[in-house]
Amino acid sequence: TEETLRKTEKLAMIGQLAAGFAHEIRNPLTTIRGFVQLLSANEIEPNYASTILDEIDRINFIVSEFMVFAKPHQIYFSDCNIKSILTSVVKFIEPEAIMKNVKIKYHFPAEDVVIYGEKNQLQQVFLNIIKNSIEAMPTGGKIDIMIERTDQNISITIKDNGIGMESDQVKKLGEPFFTTKQDGNGLGLMVSYKIIQNHKGSVDVKSKSNNGTTFKITFKTQLNKDKTYSSNITENE
Ligand code: ADP
Ligand code: MG
Repeated sequence: TEETLRKTEKLAMIGQLAAGFAHEIRNPLTTIRGFVQLLSANEIEPNYASTILDEIDRINFIVSEFMVFAKPHQIYFSDCNIKSILTSVVKFIEPEAIMKNVKIKYHFPAEDVVIYGEKNQLQQVFLNIIKNSIEAMPTGGKIDIMIERTDQNISITIKDNGIGMESDQVKKLGEPFFTTKQDGNGLGLMVSYKIIQNHKGSVDVKSKSNNGTTFKITFKTQLNKDKTYSSNITENE
């Protein structure tokens, strides 16, 4: 049946994800293990400690990118304050932004903007997109985060002035394992697009090589509290 087919497809995707996940975690762990071995042999060098910290941070980021798959039972829809979700994500990623000389600026309306959605998943989307923006600005830069609201739509725009992309690259966004980074995994946007789809939202990407990239995510105001679309997610359990 169609249902069985869909389940098989899902299982295949999860298997593929798990393989990528295991690979990504094993690399930093191997490094940590090597350094800890040296530490235990008493050959201590001061910068070993910072290497260990970097690798631990790397694991933390990979794991947070996968929060959505790691916590399938904690998914439930509620009213989500988009302004506070965005500021908490920025707080989380701020140390990396400061280190890379990236300034983050908010352009928020005075009033609160509420989306009926899954808070952890929405956090996930913004984390992945903002993190990509930071990584697109190796010599520093600026990120503008904008919230706009009309009667029909709520949109969140994340704009950077980083390395940008060619149009054929933009077309590949969201494909599993598509990455142009040495230590990338090409899963962040796939996960994010899936979450946005689960929220009946859409994404528009504008990018220009050497100029910067703009991600605009749009949710329908009207779909708020439409019970039919939350079932889309809970069936994952
Ligand atoms: P990863 O970050 O691990 O590479 P993602 O799925 O998050 O995986 O992103 C996939 C690819 O999309 C990146 O490797 C990069 O080439 C491109 N990309 C995403 N966001 C941006 C951006 N803001 N600026 C430039 N390129 C981007
Ligand atoms: Mg990424």
